Amino acid sequence: MTNKMKIPVAILGATGSVGQKFVELLTNHPWFEIKELCASDKSAGKKYIDAVDWFLSSPLDDRVGEIIVQKCERVLESKVVFSGLDSSVAGKIETEFAKAGYKVISNSKNHRMDEDVPLLIPEVNPDHLDLIKKQKYGGGCIVTNPNCSVIGLVLALKPLLDNFGLEAVNVVTMQAVSGAGHPSVVNLDIEDNVIPLIKGEEPKVEIEPLKILGKLNKKKVSFINFKISAQCNRVNVTDGHTECVQVKLKKKTSVEKIKKAWQEYSSEPQKLKLPSAPLKPIHFSNEESFPQPKHHRNNDKGMAVSVGRLRNDSIFDYRFVIMSHNTVRGAAGGAILCAELMKAKGII
Ligand code: NAP
Repeated sequence: MTNKMKIPVAILGATGSVGQKFVELLTNHPWFEIKELCASDKSAGKKYIDAVDWFLSSPLDDRVGEIIVQKCERVLESKVVFSGLDSSVAGKIETEFAKAGYKVISNSKNHRMDEDVPLLIPEVNPDHLDLIKKQKYGGGCIVTNPNCSVIGLVLALKPLLDNFGLEAVNVVTMQAVSGAGHPSVVNLDIEDNVIPLIKGEEPKVEIEPLKILGKLNKKKVSFINFKISAQCNRVNVTDGHTECVQVKLKKKTSVEKIKKAWQEYSSEPQKLKLPSAPLKPIHFSNEESFPQPKHHRNNDKGMAVSVGRLRNDSIFDYRFVIMSHNTVRGAAGGAILCAELMKAKGII
């Protein structure tokens, strides 16, 4: 696609941790072009390069750095809007944009559990995009990306559900500091530490997978019925959430069959060859100490979930460890993949 044919997009919350990742991943995107950047009043009116505390290792694109940051007002030319807004303001602003005809793809928690809003992982529940038809926003819509720990978890669970059924899941997360946003990270007492609390996180990890894995019926999604227990911890890792998972399955199976289910797993984004889709959504390895955030978070453009240490469990049936990039697959990259699926389906 030439630049003229690219779809202009805006980023709300462009200066934040997720916002910066959006900027990085959308710079040179084959289908989308960053046209507008928005943030709070404190940043509005400044060039992006002056408003942002750019902390990514890749350099900020010169053209994007010169864009003047705007307030989050509905005067944007771009009709596709990615949101990395703080959840204290995201709900209202996203609703207003959708009502004004914008297609909003959000990372924030505010609309995730709305009955008419897809909570989308393009590999897992692409059919849930049909919920948009139930929305009352006229030409606009809201699509949400799940919580950053949930995306990796559900990608790993989906082949288990399809092949063996799920009865119960226990998960302990070790979440990277970039998940705490910026600049709050610097205030965290994380050096030489593990913080056994991420406010509001455990209920999200326990409920969101049940909607994502649920069945879309005529009116809404019927949540799947199994129990999840989650304990969430903040650890001193820059990027990449690691999760220790135990599962109880409905059908008897074997370690070998589970590995095969993961290795063979592929879905609609792979079939459609969406630009941000990982070649393989699940990277399984038999390596003894796989996966590790430092070494594996960028696997397959940071869009795959790395899975390892599969073994029998003495209380549940099996246990394993997963790791996925929280600001790529778990946030900006995941949301961009949602937008690519929407484009492939003619929604944008
Ligand atoms: P963050 O670093 O704190 O960034 C928040 C953004 O919101 C900034 O651009 C900020 O702009 C903007 N903002 C704050 N108040 C505003 C207001 N009143 N009006 C307009 N803009 C305002 O947070 P983050 O980590 O990027 O997270 C953003 C959202 O994504 C959150 O809802 C979070 O829960 C979710 N999320 C985060 C992750 C992750 O790994 N970090 C993963 C998944 C989902 P200024 O710079 O101008 O203040």
